[in-house]
Amino acid sequence: MHSHQNFVQNLLDSVLKLGQFALPNLCLLCTTPSKRLLCPACLDSLPYMKNACLQCALPITSSDTELCGQCLASKPSFDASISLTSYQGPVPYLINQFKHQRKHNIGAFLSQLFVDRLLSSRTRPDVITFAPLYWRRQFSRGMNQAERLANTIGNRLDVKVEPLFKKVKSTAAQQNMTRKERLKNLKNSVILSNTVLIKDKHIVFVDDVMTTCATAETTAKLLRTAGAGRIEIWTIARTPKPK
Ligand SMILES: [Zn+2]
Ligand SMILES: [Zn+2]
Repeated sequence: MHSHQNFVQNLLDSVLKLGQFALPNLCLLCTTPSKRLLCPACLDSLPYMKNACLQCALPITSSDTELCGQCLASKPSFDASISLTSYQGPVPYLINQFKHQRKHNIGAFLSQLFVDRLLSSRTRPDVITFAPLYWRRQFSRGMNQAERLANTIGNRLDVKVEPLFKKVKSTAAQQNMTRKERLKNLKNSVILSNTVLIKDKHIVFVDDVMTTCATAETTAKLLRTAGAGRIEIWTIARTPKPK
């Protein structure tokens, strides 16, 4: 009886091992065999950010200016933003799978891509922080996707990741709000939970998607008031300007 069980168990183990070995990994987007999450062709065709406003990462068309019209008209509270991609093509799908289907490997893959493509020549910050979880009503339970991205990036850069913000008031869903409404909505809903690591420090705020800058602006203002040195916003995707 015992040896029979062992035999079955061994057989199962072998089959599982064989399965793992034989099963080809498929590209998440086009399902061709691929060693990485995305095949080289799909990886190449992601909408990487090229000409973007240095301050808010909004794609800009003319190459003779470094800032977009909005940043020229009214300077944001943060010093710079970088985004890996524009929020279009397969990017919304990838981020959605990561956020709502809890596909953690996609988040890790995107943050590694972010580090590889954007951070080689950049000054390492002193502290990396992230958007607090409860800003997002649609998945108020479970993981904080911004924290996961921040952790992967922090690990790769060997920079400390600290939760600097705390959500103290629930805010209404922001999807259909204008920038002005979002700012009003966010004001007083978030506080700094840790003021020790801010003064004169180079701080990076990580989020998955930057839409209207309202989140970035609100948190940057708090950091600025607490004496932050340099404030940068790092995101995986930036939504193009609404037409
Ligand atoms: Zn592919
Ligand atoms: Zn701008």
